[in-house]
Amino acid sequence: MQDRVMQDRVMQNITQGLVWVVQCLRMTPNWVLAGLAWAIALLALWNIFVTSRDTVKRSQVLHRIPCARCVFFTNDYRLKCTVHPDIALTEEAIGCQDFEKRTV
Ligand code: SF4
Repeated sequence: MQDRVMQDRVMQNITQGLVWVVQCLRMTPNWVLAGLAWAIALLALWNIFVTSRDTVKRSQVLHRIPCARCVFFTNDYRLKCTVHPDIALTEEAIGCQDFEKRTV
C-alpha cells in the first residue's frame, strides 16, 4: 500500500515537472527555440562526423595487424601464434620482426 502511495507521489512530481517545462517552453521566444534546435542538430551532425572519423582511424590501425597473413598464425584461440602468442592479433604485433607472409 505504501509503495503505491510512493509511486503516485513520484508520478505526480514527474507530471508537475513536465508541466513546468512545457510552460517555460511556451514563454520562450521562438528565435531562442529555433537556435536551440539548430544547435542540437549541429551537435548531432558533429557527433556523427567525429564518430565516423574515429571509426575509420581505428579500423586503419587494426588493418595494420599482420597476424592473419602470417605463416606462424595458427587460427586457434588456444595458441594464436607459435612465436609470439602474447602479442598475436594485438596492436603490439604491428611491425612484428618475425612476420613471414603466408604463401598459400
Ligand atoms: S609472428 Fe608476429 S606477425 Fe606472425 S602471427 Fe606471430 S605475432 Fe603475428
